[in-house]
Amino acid sequence: METTDFSSLDLAPELLQVVQELGYEEMTPIQAASIPLILDGKDIIGQSKTGSGKTAAFALPILNTLDLENRNIQALILCPTRELATQVVGEFRKLGRRYEGLQILSLTGGQTGREQAQAMERGVHIAVGTPGRVLDHLNRERMDLNDIATLVLDEADKMFDMGFAAEIKAILKQLPTKRQTLFFSATFPEEIQDLSRRYQKNPLKIIVEDAAETGTSIEQIVYDSSESQKSDTLMRVLQQHPAKSTIIFCNTKAAVNELAERIAEYKVSVAALHGDLEQRERDRVMATFRNGSTAILVATDVAARGLDIDHLEQVINFDLPAQAETYVHRIGRTGRAGREGRAITIASPVDTMKLLEFEKLSGGAFLRPTLGFKNQHGLNPFAHQSAMKTLSISGGRKDKLRPGDILGALTNKEGSTLTGADIGKIEIHDHISYVAISSSMVDTALEKLRTGKIKGQKFQARLVK
Ligand code: AMP
Repeated sequence: METTDFSSLDLAPELLQVVQELGYEEMTPIQAASIPLILDGKDIIGQSKTGSGKTAAFALPILNTLDLENRNIQALILCPTRELATQVVGEFRKLGRRYEGLQILSLTGGQTGREQAQAMERGVHIAVGTPGRVLDHLNRERMDLNDIATLVLDEADKMFDMGFAAEIKAILKQLPTKRQTLFFSATFPEEIQDLSRRYQKNPLKIIVEDAAETGTSIEQIVYDSSESQKSDTLMRVLQQHPAKSTIIFCNTKAAVNELAERIAEYKVSVAALHGDLEQRERDRVMATFRNGSTAILVATDVAARGLDIDHLEQVINFDLPAQAETYVHRIGRTGRAGREGRAITIASPVDTMKLLEFEKLSGGAFLRPTLGFKNQHGLNPFAHQSAMKTLSISGGRKDKLRPGDILGALTNKEGSTLTGADIGKIEIHDHISYVAISSSMVDTALEKLRTGKIKGQKFQARLVK
């Protein structure tokens, strides 16, 4: 049995100190199992999901072996989405904050290739990117891989699902052969095992049993429905289980759009999230859901990746996922941090075997209550109410805006009727910011932003949700 004490690790004092400052009291299971091996130079293939602490599991050993004097890229992390890459960069910055001069670069669609190439010329220690953009830089000979000592494939299964296999292989072929290769994945389909055999050296497989833990605070309910009645059943489910935040998972974009439209007819604050949305639109949808202005999000699995949300009241599986791991991943978005959550699955009789498998892997027992009849008033919109509205502001990080500036602009000056209590989450993106305002004060806030200035500058503001 390995110890879970961070101080047992052979880590640089700067890292141990940060871990302590961040309040990480002990290693998570994936960290305890993998960090000693990674520090020892081994290749690993680890089972992990978001929330398991997997990012720190590879970030700490990478930071530990980094040579800050060398301004060439020494570690490359490939991620399926820009959102995940942003999270990984954030974790590296957080853990590496005592390393002066540390340069971490995100290679995704968030910036132009030119800006990224310039950053690499100035010197970058760690690059985190999506396979498409990374390969693009390689093809243009803008990226020097000679000093890469560690390659990480984060959420490898998702990268395959998203069709990045060819890009990943092309990148792997160009890396130095003397390197450490780390795979993290929620599932291990054949194609990933294949890649592991080809590109890893004596990989050690790390499987962390945490399914039982996932099941405990989540109430799992199954309602039966025939395929043709499913969407009516969903409406009844929503009526019976009102919540402040719900994600409904579908397997296709068509189902996502159809359900979102149907729910919107009841004047509920709903949004659709799928892979065909433009990045800007996706960012906006995610921001309004995170800040409570969207009560119901209808999404596909891939699109919902990277939706980093602290607490979600309920998850509804409109379509069953193909794999049990995906089921556990979906429901793991609720009941976080010891809070209660609810996971509802709409299933048909042909799904019986699958449900047994899901139940087993999730570690919790399924409840099968009867569903009440749909009342004639349809969905009660007030039950799925969002107390907040979202305003967008036409400036962001690149304009040097910070949350405090926006808060200040909204609440400053005598006679202001807005107080801090009316203002919710403030998210600053590169060129745009989103601020949540309590519904009753949103007009006042909009007027204030339109007539006033932020940090002495004029910005446009509008109501987005
Ligand atoms: P991840 O699974 O990498 O997305 O990490 C989930 C969250 O857990 C991140 O916000 C980390 O900062 C945090 N975290 C990682 N390791 C630990 C730990 N040992 N103790 C407490 N929190 C942690």
